[in-house]
Amino acid sequence: MRATRVIEALPANTPFVGPERLMRETGRSELVRLGANESPFGPSPRAIAAMTSELERLAWYGDPDSYALREALAARHACGVEQILVASGIDDVMGLCVRAFVEIGGIAVATRGTYPTFAYHVAGYGGRLETVPYTNEGAADLEALSALAHRTRASVVYLANPDNPSGAFIDRDRIAAFYESLPDESLLLLDEAYADFADPGQLLEPRFEERLVRARTFSKAYGLAGARIGYALTTQHNAELFERVRLQYGVNRNAQIGALAALGDEDHLAWVISETASARASYEALAHELGTAVLPSRTNFVCIDMGNAAQATWVMNELLERGVWIRKPGAPPLDRYIRVSAGTAEMREAFAAALRDVLATRRSVATP
Ligand SMILES: *Cc1c(COP(=O)(O)O)cnc(C)c1O
Repeated sequence: MRATRVIEALPANTPFVGPERLMRETGRSELVRLGANESPFGPSPRAIAAMTSELERLAWYGDPDSYALREALAARHACGVEQILVASGIDDVMGLCVRAFVEIGGIAVATRGTYPTFAYHVAGYGGRLETVPYTNEGAADLEALSALAHRTRASVVYLANPDNPSGAFIDRDRIAAFYESLPDESLLLLDEAYADFADPGQLLEPRFEERLVRARTFSKAYGLAGARIGYALTTQHNAELFERVRLQYGVNRNAQIGALAALGDEDHLAWVISETASARASYEALAHELGTAVLPSRTNFVCIDMGNAAQATWVMNELLERGVWIRKPGAPPLDRYIRVSAGTAEMREAFAAALRDVLATRRSVATP
C-alpha cells in the first residue's frame, strides 16, 4: 500500500535510538544509563507507594480528563483547570501543538540541533521546519529565530528553556522580549522540560495567552520518564483545540496517580535538585582535571568539550564499548561536545573512570 504523500516522504529513522537497542546490538545486559537525562534519583517514594497501592485497579481506564491532577497543577500554577492539558509527556504536547497550528506545507521555526521531537512532529504532520544555528556560545540565537519567524511567517516557534542539548538558560526578561518580538501569527511553544532545575524567579512569569504554550513534564526532576506524563499551560481556547484531537485515553492511569503524589512531595524534589547540582559540579571538576571545559548548564546534564565533532563521536562510541551510555549533540557548533546526564555518585565514578581510560588511549584531547 502507498501511504499518504506526507508519510511516504518521511525518512524511516526515528529521533531516538534507545539504550535497549544498543544493549541488543552490543550484547550487553547492562549499561550505565547517562544518555537520556533520566533521573538517577528515582521518583518520590510517595509516588511509588501511591502507584503500587493502585496497581490492582489497572483494569480501569484512567480519568480521561485527568481532573484531580489538573486541579493540583492549577493550584500550583495559580491558573484555571481549563488552562491545563495533561498529555503523555511533552513529546505528546508538541505533537498536539504542531497538529493544531501547523498547516500542511506551513512553516515552523526552531534552533538547528535542539531537542528533536518538535522537528519530528513538524515533518510527520506535513509542515516545513526552518532553522537557525546555535550561537558560538551554544545558546539559542533569539534575534535570528525572531527574524526567521518574521521572514517565514511561521505559525509555531519552538524554544526549549533551559535548552537540551546545550543546557543553556535564558532569563525571564530575555524570554519575554523574545516572545513579544515574534510576529502576531507565530505561537511560541516554550518547552520547559527542565524548568524544575531553574530558579523559579528566573523563569518567564505566568502568562496565559493565545500565542503561548508552555510544556512541562514529570519525566526529568520528578523521575517519572517511564510513566509518560506531562502537561501544557496555555489558554482555555488552546487547550480546547488540543482536546479535539488528543487521544482521550492516552494518559496512563498509574502515571496520573504517580504525578499527583509526586507533586505533594516537595522534599524529594528539593533533594533531587540539590543532588543534580552536585552531579553537575562533579562533571565540571572532571572536565577540569582532563584539561577541557563544560558548557554552563541549568539542567540535569552537562556538555563536555571534546575538541571536535569526530573526537566527540569517537569518545561516545568508546564509552559505549566500556558499558557507559551517553549521547552527543548532532549539529555544529555543539557537535564537539558529549552530553552526560546527572548520575548517582557511583554512576559518575563509572563514567569518570571510563572517560579517563578512553582519553588515555588517545592522548590528544584538543583543548578549546
Ligand atoms: C526530555 C525532554 C522532553 C521529553 O519530555 P517527555 O515529557 O518525557 O515527553 C521534552 N523536551 C526536552 C527539551 C527534553 O529534554
